[in-house]
Amino acid sequence: MSESIHWDLGKLYSSPDAAEIHTHLEQLSDQAKSFSEKYKGRIHHLSAHDLAAALNSYEKLQTLGLRPYLYAQLLFCADSRPDQHKMLLAKVREDWSTISEQLLFFELELMKLDAEHFTSLLQSEALQPYRHYLIQLRKGAPFTLSEEVEQALKRKDLSGKEGFSQLFDELTASFKFAFVRPGESEPAEVTGEELLALLYHPDGTVRENAFSTFLQKHQEHALVLTACFNNLLLDHEREGQLRNYPDLMTPTHLSSETEPEMVEQMMAVTEQNYGLAREYFALKQQLLGLEKMKNTDIYAPLPGSNRQFSLPEAKQLVLGAFRSFSPQLATLAEGFFTDRRIDSHPAPGKTGGAFCMGMLPGYQPYVLLNHTGNLRDVSTLAHELGHGVHFALSQQQNLYHYQAPLPLAETASVFGEMLLTRHLLAKETDRQLRIELLCVKLEEIIATTFRQNALTRFELAAHKKRGQQLLSPDDYCELWWQENAKLFGDSIEMIEPYRWGWAYISHFIHARFYCYSYVFGELLVLALYQQYLEQGEEFVPLYLDLLKAGGSAPPQELLEPFGIDLSDPDFWQKGYDFVRGLLEELKGLVEIK
Ligand SMILES: [Zn+2]
Repeated sequence: MSESIHWDLGKLYSSPDAAEIHTHLEQLSDQAKSFSEKYKGRIHHLSAHDLAAALNSYEKLQTLGLRPYLYAQLLFCADSRPDQHKMLLAKVREDWSTISEQLLFFELELMKLDAEHFTSLLQSEALQPYRHYLIQLRKGAPFTLSEEVEQALKRKDLSGKEGFSQLFDELTASFKFAFVRPGESEPAEVTGEELLALLYHPDGTVRENAFSTFLQKHQEHALVLTACFNNLLLDHEREGQLRNYPDLMTPTHLSSETEPEMVEQMMAVTEQNYGLAREYFALKQQLLGLEKMKNTDIYAPLPGSNRQFSLPEAKQLVLGAFRSFSPQLATLAEGFFTDRRIDSHPAPGKTGGAFCMGMLPGYQPYVLLNHTGNLRDVSTLAHELGHGVHFALSQQQNLYHYQAPLPLAETASVFGEMLLTRHLLAKETDRQLRIELLCVKLEEIIATTFRQNALTRFELAAHKKRGQQLLSPDDYCELWWQENAKLFGDSIEMIEPYRWGWAYISHFIHARFYCYSYVFGELLVLALYQQYLEQGEEFVPLYLDLLKAGGSAPPQELLEPFGIDLSDPDFWQKGYDFVRGLLEELKGLVEIK
């Protein structure tokens, strides 16, 4: 396809066999050795000034190691087939593991610093740039084991949990599907992405066949996929025992800087609002003129709508939406196209879905897409570029404070989508198109709140059960079915192969309990967007400052300028009241039967 863009990784390295990669890995190894010789066993003797110098060297070391690591990751995601890509990824992972082992003492000794000494260090001017990182690090102290044990765990992770994650990635990326494309008579070999994109096809039979074909492939590989899940879940449970975590989600709460009660409250409010989703499904059923609404009909296009967007069109729309909010946002987003930091279309061996890889300060982020041209792909572009500008703006932070805390990780992305929807709604006068835009937005909100909530509940249930026994493929299917049924009620009939819907969600493999941060992100954005509507221009610099702050403070502190209190249950309900508003706006356009 002529409009497709392949990203240019040349700013990182010229090729996978560039000598520079190996030079960097060797330098990394030498510098890690001298860092360890200089500081090991001496952290508690360091003055604030010397500790700042150590933190600076430690940051430089990480930067040196991350460059080859991220390069190998991106290379593999764009094409997982060449052995060279696999080998480079394995090489950097293995080297990185050795180095991490060697450097482990540093954070462990920081955690063990005497409380009084630590407090006095924190007062010093020299350590202010590292303040939040240091405070955050110390919170993990009660769950940290001795250096020998931590080292052994790290070493065994390489062939343990990381091995299973890698197996999952390689297996699912290797899936080939035989499928009769709409309008063709013979089966062709298609990618999983192409099948998932067919969930947006106008013909219900095509949607159902495509999704069934996709899911059945996962069922065929039940043995390996279940083994990946069983081992990763067991690993999590056993590590939790070793570390004495009070709860399965403790490590997520520690790294997310969230309170368990707050998250539980958010999820409970979400469940109280499941009815909104069901109301929407009933409306969609009417719009589609269906007697029975299946889960493969949720994303069906409305009759008569078949708008396609080329990548240049999608780009123009998203940049226009960003520009209407802030020209700076648009300029940063445009950089992805001008510097070719975007990989746009589906290709064999390429990772499915879409992501934005935040690199490290000094290296601009990259975006991977699988653009097929529907309205949702335009939204995905807005989403990933939202992440992109977030990373671009937080570049001024040091490596310790570069990444936003997990609950704010989806803020800029979802805000980007919201800007796009409102931009498009403002331009469209056609009633049919306005209906379509509202449907797409509501479907996205349902997918990021209610669906992610169900995913988190499934994940929790599976982890709990795995703590007691080995799960059969059917156990996973059953837990999945139950959680989805709670959401759909009798508004949706789930197709039988959907029992395997859990088996392809890579978040369960790569980022335990990550899914609730989508719920958080979406509800927070609805609140922020509401505030933007009320405050107008005044809001823009506050928002940009939030993005620039990266992860330099806890979420609650970062949100203070907006007057948001996360411990207030009404805060979450406000988000759903906004959804209610969108639903009523849609109902006003549709003649209810
Ligand atoms: Zn995202």
